Amino acid sequence: MKKDKISVIVSCYNEEASLPYFYKEITTVASEMKEIDFEFMFVNDGSKDKTLEVIKDLAKKDNRVRFISFSRNFGKEAAMYAGLENVTGDYITLMDADLQDPPSMLPEMFRLIKEEGYDSVGTRRVSRKGEPPIRSFFARCFYKIINKMSKVEMVDGARDYRLMTKQVVDSIISLKEYNRYSKGLFSFVGFETKWLEYENVERVAGESKWSFWKLFKYAIEGIVAFTTLPLSIAAVIGVLMCLIAFIAIIVIIVKTLILGDPVGGWPSMVCILLFVSGIQLLCMGIIGQYLAKTYLETKKRPIYIVKETEKDIEK
Ligand code: UDP
Ligand code: MG
Repeated sequence: MKKDKISVIVSCYNEEASLPYFYKEITTVASEMKEIDFEFMFVNDGSKDKTLEVIKDLAKKDNRVRFISFSRNFGKEAAMYAGLENVTGDYITLMDADLQDPPSMLPEMFRLIKEEGYDSVGTRRVSRKGEPPIRSFFARCFYKIINKMSKVEMVDGARDYRLMTKQVVDSIISLKEYNRYSKGLFSFVGFETKWLEYENVERVAGESKWSFWKLFKYAIEGIVAFTTLPLSIAAVIGVLMCLIAFIAIIVIIVKTLILGDPVGGWPSMVCILLFVSGIQLLCMGIIGQYLAKTYLETKKRPIYIVKETEKDIEK
């Protein structure tokens, strides 16, 4: 019988410090799962340090190691997509290079798919230990808001670390959108998903590439990609404003007829003007966000550009 094969996709951006630890850990897990073949797909997302050299060295001494190296930094979403498109395994897992996604969970994840019939096993952090409290606070708010707005469920604390069958992966790569928000895409495609929980682990080496601002932009991306509710809210605010204005006009006409036309009320007028034009700009901004995303999608630019792969080095 053909052996099952697990493909491990690792997106790496400036991970020269953590890769050796990661490789050691993942190969230990692989050697414990004797009945399974492994393939390690490292996606070098335009790193500026020696990440590519480290990967090449690994590829030279271990023929299970493959890699794709981008022509520049395209972001983690693009790196994961490139990995998913190019692996050959029957089961595919996505992991971070910093060991924040413990490879030791893999045997249990595999068992759940193989024996209990799940199509995919996701992981979520139950704590956000080691994270700035303010970031955790905003992250929690984000999940509350997006789950109210979007029909696709986003699980709070869900990591990108998951094991999936080839079928699930095929359906994910059939979603060819340019603005990728994987947490949403995974839940959009459906299938039976089991969630495993674990305590947050701090990274082994190097530092997080996500600044608060980057995370904020990523959150907006998630909202724009998975719900058009903000557009409706803009419209509703518009209707409400018209109603208020209509009532105000009647009140002013009646008041003028009864009391005459004493000049006054300029400060309140200015306040109202500022308020209304503020809301107008906000709504235009919301429309602009969607328009911008539509603009990018219509260009049909490639999600990533490859500079070299393991086929380009002689072993
Ligand atoms: N990463 C990437 N491209 C980027 C940023 C990050 O491939 O532009 C990779 C990074 O190398 C790591 C994973 O994505 O393997 C998660 O990044 P990080 O640990 O910085 O994020 P955090 O765990 O702090 O959310
Ligand atoms: Mg990390």
